[in-house]
Amino acid sequence: MARRTNDKRQVRQPWPRPWRPAARAREAGGQPDYDSYGSLLRFKRLFEEHPHPMWVYDAVTLRFLVVNAAAVQHYGYTEAEFLDMTIMDIRPPDEHARLAETLATLRQESAQRADYWVHCKKDGTRISVEVSSHALTLAGRPARFVFAHDVTDQLRMETALHESEEMHHLVIDHIPHQIFWKDLDSVYQGCNHVFARAAGVPEPAAIVGMRDTQLPWAHNAERIVAEERAIMASGRANLNQEDHMLFADGSMHWFLINKLPLHDQRGRIIGVLGTIEDVSERKDYQERLEHQANHDALTQLPNRSLFNDRLEQAISYAQRYEHTLLVVFIDLDNFKLVNDNLGHHAGDELLRIVAARLRACVRETDTVARLGGDEFMLILLDGVASTPSQALLQKLLDSVSAPVMLGASEVTISCSVGVSLYPGDGIDAQLLLKQADIAMYRAKEAGRNQVQFYESAMQARVAERAVIEAELRNALARKELSLHYQPKVSLRGGEVTGMEALLRWHHPTLGMVSPARFIGVAEETGLIVAFGRWVIRTACAQAKAWQMAGLPALRVAVNVSARQFRDKGLADDIVAALHDSGLAPRYLELELTESLMMHNIGEVVATVARLKQLGIALSIDDFGTGYSSLSYLKTFPLTYLKIDQSFTRDMLGDPNVAAIVRSVIALGHSLGFKVIAEGVETEAQLAYLRRYQCDEMQGYYFSRPLDTGAFAALLEREQALPPAQPGDPARRTLLLLDDDADVLAALARLLRRDDYLILCAQSAQQAFELLAMHPVHVIVSDQRMPEMNGTDFLGRVKKLYPDTVRIILSGYTDLESVLNAINTGEIYRFYTKPWEDQVLRENIQEAFRYHQLLHGMAP
Ligand code: C2E
Ligand code: MG
Ligand code: MG
Repeated sequence: MARRTNDKRQVRQPWPRPWRPAARAREAGGQPDYDSYGSLLRFKRLFEEHPHPMWVYDAVTLRFLVVNAAAVQHYGYTEAEFLDMTIMDIRPPDEHARLAETLATLRQESAQRADYWVHCKKDGTRISVEVSSHALTLAGRPARFVFAHDVTDQLRMETALHESEEMHHLVIDHIPHQIFWKDLDSVYQGCNHVFARAAGVPEPAAIVGMRDTQLPWAHNAERIVAEERAIMASGRANLNQEDHMLFADGSMHWFLINKLPLHDQRGRIIGVLGTIEDVSERKDYQERLEHQANHDALTQLPNRSLFNDRLEQAISYAQRYEHTLLVVFIDLDNFKLVNDNLGHHAGDELLRIVAARLRACVRETDTVARLGGDEFMLILLDGVASTPSQALLQKLLDSVSAPVMLGASEVTISCSVGVSLYPGDGIDAQLLLKQADIAMYRAKEAGRNQVQFYESAMQARVAERAVIEAELRNALARKELSLHYQPKVSLRGGEVTGMEALLRWHHPTLGMVSPARFIGVAEETGLIVAFGRWVIRTACAQAKAWQMAGLPALRVAVNVSARQFRDKGLADDIVAALHDSGLAPRYLELELTESLMMHNIGEVVATVARLKQLGIALSIDDFGTGYSSLSYLKTFPLTYLKIDQSFTRDMLGDPNVAAIVRSVIALGHSLGFKVIAEGVETEAQLAYLRRYQCDEMQGYYFSRPLDTGAFAALLEREQALPPAQPGDPARRTLLLLDDDADVLAALARLLRRDDYLILCAQSAQQAFELLAMHPVHVIVSDQRMPEMNGTDFLGRVKKLYPDTVRIILSGYTDLESVLNAINTGEIYRFYTKPWEDQVLRENIQEAFRYHQLLHGMAP
């Protein structure tokens, strides 16, 4: 302790006595040697108090001559100890040789010199020192002044820094993923080797300054940059993004991509850092695992768990698109015998073969699964028809029961099939499965090798269909087919202009079978081709016969199905039929459907052109129900567009349907076709079609399809449509609608005094019919009615007949919807019940004035 105090004192007195200039001068009895160390003196304080070690040593003896406090403190020697040492003593032995060498050269130069040295402290610690020295003369002897700056820490830090930077690069290069970083403009600032390789640049440094547009994934550059911009703008990382890319060699690679904003020390975003991991192998492995988990190892078909998934999916699809779904349970009959007699290998082989056969029977989109053992399950999507295709199920049975070679033995095996149907039998997957299972057991009980449906009604329908199919084959030969004729009528003159031949099948036990039940079957089985040939011949012969009998010469239309149309012999059949009957071609018309026309357009155009050349007329049947391409439509040399009966049915009350009907009429006329509406059943429909210049009509309103005798009678009595009776537009016409007959009567009584033509309707439908037949000016409607409320009704009327003035008479104040209707212009006024007679009368008069004002009618 005492020693330390002593040291301290010594530190405070750094100048050794002999070298204290003043003392020395006094000792020498003269002036201090200011020449030699005057400058030293001047900087004495600086020397003493400088925080860095400094000393002066004798250039010859190398002994320390003077040291400062910092040197004492830093090196751990006392001043006295220093003064007993040479500069060699503060060097580790390994530095001695270099020092000796340096000193040798130093003697020749006096200049300043800076260098790095390793020094030793008293306690043996090695320190790195930046030494600068310069020569001086002290008391006539050469000496050197030394300034020592301990740079140990700094060097260590620098080395560490350097090492850590190297380390980073090393680490980054050893990471097997691609790493890159970019600046705010998505310009690359660096990357690792893996990335450089992927980018096709020779080394990581080459990436600096490049953009994605210059790299192999240039086609994705825009997307990449946009994504990075979002990351940098939001500061939010995009982690674990999976993406895939097709490589030049055709292989698909999957990547796991992480991108995060890059911050500087102050937390500002300066770019983006990304890592990209090729996970293709992992993905493959995952897929293999998934496949194994979801597929049966023997047949590679989906297993029970995947089947359940698919069934759920199929149900939701069928629900959305209103399809029918068949769940089919197939169990092999006597499979155990194969196993027992031929061994398990043979059994396995048989299962594989059956699996492949089942797969081959159905479409790509249908599911075939193996639930285990000899049980297979199918999910079949069956379109909108509610009767499942017996043909497909039969095909399944046939294909399973075709002989199989197992080793040297030929084996024939059958199966029992149970079917449940969505939505008929249920809408729940598990339930459908169970029902299919039950149906399958029924098939086993009933003697195997057959199909059973869960629902007996369906069973009956399927059976019926099978009967139809079987019976239809004989229909022609047994002369059970006949044709009925339905007149087509001109809407202008009212006269019959033509007729449509409609096929009828009268079966001895099934009775009259409707075309809806047998035309589809005939198409599926191909019978339609023969039927069609017969229809054309019969229709031509009949038309000619009527002409010969002196009845008006009329054109006869026959329906041609798609299947028939594709038949190469069609044109020849027609030529032959015309020839044999002697009917002039212009009296024959073919009705083709839209889907037929628009499918395989190139071929159709050619066939149609050929038919047209024969001189026969062509029309599109059921127009509006398919998808017509307008540009193709005009390339067909058509005579008629036939508005489908579903439109005719709905046009009076549904503004959208009405708009379709009006546009079809306008479209047909602009293309130079005539337009005929089918399914006309009421006078109102007739009036509406007349109002919009439809050319012809066909429907029960004029006549149902008739047998030849009845049709001839109709022609003989020259039955015609009554001429149009357009209402008098000058007559002020008022329509009253109320579901309450008493209210209606009271209103009519009240308003009769004002000389209107008053029309009364008790339902919206009735009102729509009256509107179609009369030029109505003002409508007064009740608000609350059973099928459609007053505002809804008048909303439709506004679209159908915008010129009308519409009033609500409401027994209760459903204010919101009424006000809403007023605001959207659907109604003009509304009054509450009970009404004041005089007020109501005045208001209705005002409504007529308003109508006249707007539309210039002359009431
Ligand atoms: P389609 O060619 O559109 O024939 C019009 C159908 O509407 C006929 O039904 C006809 O009886 C019916 N119909 C006529 N006026 C009215 C009416 O005012 N109201 C209602 N509700 N229905 C009316 P049908 O005879 O049952 O024939 C149905 C479909 O069967 C035909 O539709 C046609 O596509 C097809 N078809 C009929 N005969 C043949 C044929 O000889 N060959 C082919 N390929 N198909 C035929
Ligand atoms: Mg038709
Ligand atoms: Mg039709």
